[in-house]
Amino acid sequence: MNNELSFASIPESVLVIGGGIIGCSIAYEFAKRGIQVSIVERGQIGHEATSAAAGILAAHADSIVSDEFWQLLKDSQNMFQDWKHQLETFSDVHINYEERGIIRLCYEEKEELWLRQKIATLSSDSVWRSKDELTHEIPTIGEHVLGGVEWASDHQVNPHQLALALRVALQKYNVKIFEGVEATSFTTSSPRTIDGARLADGRTIKANHVVIAGGAWTGNLLKSLGWTLPIHPVQGQCYQVRPKISLTSRILYTQNCHIVPKSDGTVIVGQPQQHSGFEKKLTIESITSLHDQAVSILPGLKDAEFIRSWVGLQPATPDGWPILGQMVGYGGLTIASGHFKTGILLAPITGKAVVASILNEPVPAYCARFSPNRFEATVLRK
Ligand SMILES: Cc1cc2nc3c(=O)[nH]c(=O)nc-3n(C[C@H](O)[C@H](O)[C@H](O)COP(=O)(O)OP(=O)(O)OC[C@H]3O[C@@H](n4cnc5c(N)ncnc54)[C@H](O)[C@@H]3O)c2cc1C
Repeated sequence: MNNELSFASIPESVLVIGGGIIGCSIAYEFAKRGIQVSIVERGQIGHEATSAAAGILAAHADSIVSDEFWQLLKDSQNMFQDWKHQLETFSDVHINYEERGIIRLCYEEKEELWLRQKIATLSSDSVWRSKDELTHEIPTIGEHVLGGVEWASDHQVNPHQLALALRVALQKYNVKIFEGVEATSFTTSSPRTIDGARLADGRTIKANHVVIAGGAWTGNLLKSLGWTLPIHPVQGQCYQVRPKISLTSRILYTQNCHIVPKSDGTVIVGQPQQHSGFEKKLTIESITSLHDQAVSILPGLKDAEFIRSWVGLQPATPDGWPILGQMVGYGGLTIASGHFKTGILLAPITGKAVVASILNEPVPAYCARFSPNRFEATVLRK
């Protein structure tokens, strides 16, 4: 994030466009500081990618190398417990934060080698589990597993409850929530200073600073400024079942299939990456293929009772990192999007870092790596 581009004085009012987990966490941080906030959501708060998420807080399982993205994931993970405590106390909504740990399973020797290297570089709280140890702890596990890494500090929440808690907190802070109406373009006080947005119903909302947190649709709104920011939708799919008996208390993770046991006895099975456009489409073929993978991990899922299935559009970027910060040469507008498959985990740090940057407060130095200006070559301006 570019601190040198931050707002010169504290804005009296802020408009957040997009009421997913990212927009809500930013609005929440501003509201806590007594700054007047409005939030505009085209549909309902938290009803797009946010509610589609499985709720895994997988800092270790989702990073490959020890880089700035890993720092961001880890720092956000470390904030989660406090954030949860604060939010639950203030909103009185339980977000089902569960400390179950994650086991990343492996099925090929090559993968085992890679995972063992990853353990060495990424953290001290990871432990290699042999096949014998795994089958002892989880007797229901499929026979082909070679072993896995246990990350004891990767946990989970209920994203739907989390969005609800944020919504209640925003209401308590008197944040103005505009739902069911789309922001269609920006208003400007000078050619390069944004000072509000126009809504599809003809209203205009003015603010000293505008944050766009439109998830997979962020790029669409920025086109009204003549920008092409490379954020694209990647479909993720999940289904939920109720097994006849408890199959695992751990989250089980492979590259393409996540098995997430929930406290109500159900299990969510998810696959994060299906390339797509904006159309949300779930086919029998893709669900069957995901189910086949899940059954090979936990054969007992075969005769589980089917509850529901769904898809959501994850906001992805070419390098897989989020976009946080202001565009060079434009004032009054911050972008917070592109959180791809880790937006739930990254919500606390995104809220805090984006707000600190706009208020000219210190942000971790590594945040500069998430600036939108890294895509300068692909960002077309008028
Ligand atoms: C199937 C699936 C499983 C996932 N599992 C996990 C997981 O286990 N852990 C994890 O950390 N992450 C997970 N994710 C990723 C996570 O859900 C996303 O990274 C996160 O929700 C992104 O949040 P967001 O607020 O940026 O986007 P969204 O939740 O999509 O919110 C953006 C909002 O902006 C609104 N909007 C867009 N344009 C406009 C406009 N012009 N005017 C008004 N409103 C607008 C949209 O209606 C939308 O509500 C998963 C995602 C999917 C799809």
